[in-house]
Amino acid sequence: MIRAGRFQVYSVINGHIWLDGGAMFGVVPKVLWQKQAVPDKLNRIQLAMRTLVAIDDDARRVILVDSGAGSKWAPKDARRYGISHCNALAELLSSLGLTDMEVTDVVITHLHFDHAGGMTFWKNEPGGEIEVRFPNARHWVHARHLEHARNPTLRDKASFMPRDYEELDKRGLLQYVTGDEPAGPFEGMRWLLSKGHTPYQLLPWFEDDERPLLFAGDMIPQIPHLSPTWGMGYDLYPVTTLEEKRRVLRMCVENHLRLAFSHDPEVGGAEVEMVAGRPVVSRVLDL
Ligand SMILES: [Zn+2]
Repeated sequence: MIRAGRFQVYSVINGHIWLDGGAMFGVVPKVLWQKQAVPDKLNRIQLAMRTLVAIDDDARRVILVDSGAGSKWAPKDARRYGISHCNALAELLSSLGLTDMEVTDVVITHLHFDHAGGMTFWKNEPGGEIEVRFPNARHWVHARHLEHARNPTLRDKASFMPRDYEELDKRGLLQYVTGDEPAGPFEGMRWLLSKGHTPYQLLPWFEDDERPLLFAGDMIPQIPHLSPTWGMGYDLYPVTTLEEKRRVLRMCVENHLRLAFSHDPEVGGAEVEMVAGRPVVSRVLDL
């Protein structure tokens, strides 16, 4: 656990997913990326699917950021992506005397299935009725991103699964964030929008006088992706991601911004400094 301003912050691994290493590192040659992430015999690398948990005791707020791929997977599809799922989030909440019912807010950085799948589950049989896991929570999503998820390009269509979010919308549990400079949702937290990976990714920024914390979502999913040129092949607008990362890295230096990662299998977050023009982890966060 670390503190960031008003919040106690934890990072939990909900499970893992194995994705093609080439797709994860875009134009970076394998001879370079395989030193950072060792591929299996299918050329896939292991990614964690993390949830950030931020608790503000004074305001009685329990905030989750992203939810992993969840359990709504037929065995065949789970095998294809190497998806595993565990109960670490429920265990953490329970160790803090909380249950899913006490979650007040869920931030959905974006609606790709590896981030949005865990907000719902199959109530009875696989493929059947969908139930909401955090029924008392507002689920924050950018309206323009939801619009995109419903009208994706052919290139990113496979990343969106309506079963992950349409039930939430039907029940009025989605809280739309709008505009290009949206106001923060509540005291101590604001939004940073990122448009390179997918349109209007919503990244939560936890204010702190000394060292603010940014959940970097799929802009910087893992430590090897810190370098601006190490972008994902999945990015819709890779040059936009590159510029966004440069801006965030400047904030790491100038504002002592700390980063929390969505997919790093080893590290929940880090402090970063620039050494000879390259980003280097100066301290691992005890998330
Ligand atoms: Zn992702």
